[in-house]
Amino acid sequence: MQPYTFTPIGLIHSPFKEKFGIPRQPALAQSARMTLELLPPFNQPDTVRGLEAFSHVWLQFVFHDTLARGWSPLVRPPRLGGNAKVGVFASRSTHRPNALGLSLVPLLGVDTRNGVTLTLAGADLLDGTPVLDIKPYIPFVEAIPDARGGFVDGPPPTLVVRWSAVAQQQLAAQPGAAELAALIDEVLAQDPRPAYQDDPGRVYGVHLYHSNVRFRIADGVAEVLEIAAFAPN
Ligand code: SAM
Repeated sequence: MQPYTFTPIGLIHSPFKEKFGIPRQPALAQSARMTLELLPPFNQPDTVRGLEAFSHVWLQFVFHDTLARGWSPLVRPPRLGGNAKVGVFASRSTHRPNALGLSLVPLLGVDTRNGVTLTLAGADLLDGTPVLDIKPYIPFVEAIPDARGGFVDGPPPTLVVRWSAVAQQQLAAQPGAAELAALIDEVLAQDPRPAYQDDPGRVYGVHLYHSNVRFRIADGVAEVLEIAAFAPN
């Protein structure tokens, strides 16, 4: 078969500045507001005419950050604890023969005043993700309430999130404090650690919006320790 070449139609601007901490599927962190900026020549109002009538859209995108790692026939889904293997096509792994992702996300707004920008919620996308296509979600054909979900039948277990007094104080100094706090709660509740890691003493850092959030996890509780303005190394 001949290879095919596709051109990104837009770029994601997301609070997730690194892979660590991004929810493993959309909708798990509904506070994650992001925008999709369409690129020329697709950034004309005609391409999105009528889209605002849909509440949700499918995004097809490139796992650009891990593209170079290639793929393997078997993968270890985090939901199976990181040990059991399933076929790549029985998974939503990023390491696929064609590094394409698919996310269903709420569409909050369509702005065509200066190019085209879509406002989205709850997506599981890294900042800078190239988007290849947008399609409206059609509930009467695509919502299947009694479908079987294999090894991901149901939402993942969540952690309790607590904040240290220091972190609560530091939060107030961060831009968009309320939105940031909601996102931190959702991201940490999902337990962002790799499946095989359980080290209660370890302090982790995650880069969300313009902030670096330090936390640790022990006995089913994630504790926010510190929040500071993000400073690149
Ligand atoms: N909903 C999508 C799907 O099923 O195709 C993505 C599922 S994948 C398991 C979700 C993970 O992809 C996120 O937790 C994040 O680590 C990773 N991710 C998101 N954007 C990415 C990008 N642009 N490049 C590489 N990895 C990315």
